Amino acid sequence: MISIIGGGPSGAYLGSLLGDKCKIFEEHKEIGKPIQCTGILTHSIHDLISVKNEDDFVVNRIKRIKLISPGDEEYEFRLKNEELIVDRFKFDNYLINLARENGAEILTGHKLIDFSFSEDNIKLKFEKHEYETEKLVGADGPNSLVGRKIGLLNGRRYKVGHQYTARGEFDEETFTVYFNGNKNYFGWVVPENEKIARIGIVGDENIPELFQKFLDKIGINKKSFIECQSGVIPVYDYNAKCCDGNVYLVGDAAGHVKSTTLGGIVYGMRAAKILANALENNRDYDGLLRKEIGRELWLHSKAAEFLSGLGENGWDDFIRLLRKVELGKFNRDKPFSGLHLFLKPSLIYFLIKQGFKNKNKLV
Ligand SMILES: Cc1cc2nc3c(=O)[nH]c(=O)nc-3n(C[C@H](O)[C@H](O)[C@H](O)COP(=O)(O)OP(=O)(O)OC[C@H]3O[C@@H](n4cnc5c(N)ncnc54)[C@H](O)[C@@H]3O)c2cc1C
Repeated sequence: MISIIGGGPSGAYLGSLLGDKCKIFEEHKEIGKPIQCTGILTHSIHDLISVKNEDDFVVNRIKRIKLISPGDEEYEFRLKNEELIVDRFKFDNYLINLARENGAEILTGHKLIDFSFSEDNIKLKFEKHEYETEKLVGADGPNSLVGRKIGLLNGRRYKVGHQYTARGEFDEETFTVYFNGNKNYFGWVVPENEKIARIGIVGDENIPELFQKFLDKIGINKKSFIECQSGVIPVYDYNAKCCDGNVYLVGDAAGHVKSTTLGGIVYGMRAAKILANALENNRDYDGLLRKEIGRELWLHSKAAEFLSGLGENGWDDFIRLLRKVELGKFNRDKPFSGLHLFLKPSLIYFLIKQGFKNKNKLV
C-alpha cells in the first residue's frame, strides 16, 4: 500500500494515477480549504488532465500580461495560449474526485503527527488512528512533516506570498505584475472578473510594509478586501533529494516550484506523474525528476537570481528594452526555448551588462 499525506493538487493528482494502490490522508475535514493561492494555471495543465467541463473550476481566462517597473515603465504582451484562473477549492476537489473515481481511498480529518520506519514497513501515527504502509509519499505542502522527519527539508528556503481577494475595477483579460526593484519582490493583480481580483505580493521580509506600499501604488483600500489567501512558498533547490528509501516527497513538499513566478501547481502535478512512474516501475525517482523537470526548474532559479539583482533602474531599463525587442505571443510554458529572443543583439547586450553589474553587487 502507498500512503499519500496531503490532498492538495500534487497528492490528489498522484492518487488519481495510482488508483486503488493508494490511500490519501488529508488533515482538513474539507479538501481545498483554506485557499492560499492565486490559481493561475499555464496552458500545459491540458497535458496533464483532460478537462471535460472547464466550468467545473475555471473562473477566468487570461489573454495578456502587463509588466510594470518601479518607475512605471510598462510592457504588455499577448500570451500564446490563454491561461486559466481557477477556483482552488473547486480545482482541488475536481482532482480528489478523479482520484476517488480511479479507486483511491480518501481519508479526510487525518492529520499525520508522526511516523516510524523499519526495513519491512512504515507506521503512520495520526491524531486518532494508526496505519501501516509499505511506501509513504509526503504531498503535505511547503512545511512537509514527512520531509522534515527524514531530514530532506534541511537548508530549505521560503518566501512569503501575501494575498487578498478584493473588489475594484479591473481589466478581466489581463493580469498585471509590478516590480519595485527590491530583491526577490514582486506584486500582482490577477482578475477573477471585472469587479474582483486576487491582489498580492511575494517577498522575503517586511511583507506588511511592502504590501501597504503596493496597495497605495495600485490605489486599493483595505476596505475592499474579501478574503485573505496568504501562505509560504518553498524555494526550489536542484541539489535537494526528494526520496529516501520508501519515503518520497512531491509538489511543494519537495520544493517543485518555479522560482520566477512561484507557480507550483503544474510542476507539482508533473512531479506526481513522474513519481507514479517511479513507484509503479521501480525506477529512480530523483534521477527521473532531474531529467524531466530539473533542468527547467534550475533555469527558472537562475533567471530569478538575475531578475532579483536588477534594482529599480535595471527594471526600468529592462521593461523599456522589452518594449523595443517585442516578445510576440509569449509561451510561458517554454520561456527558455524562445531562441529568437536571444538572437536580439540589444537583449544579449543588456543581459551581459546586467550580469556584470549583478556580479559586482555580490562582491
Ligand atoms: C499567495 C500564493 C499564491 C500562489 N499562486 C500560485 C499560482 O497562481 N499558480 C500556481 O501554480 N501556484 C501558486 N502558488 C503555489 C501553489 O499554491 C502551490 O505550489 C500548490 O498548492 C502546491 O500543491 P501541493 O499539493 O504540493 O501542496 P498544498 O496545496 O500545500 O497541499 C498540501 C496538503 O497537505 C495537507 N497537509 C499538510 N500537512 C499535513 C499533515 N500533517 N497530515 C495530513 N495532511 C496534511 C494540507 O492540508 C494540504 O491540503 C501560490 C502560493 C501562494 C502562497
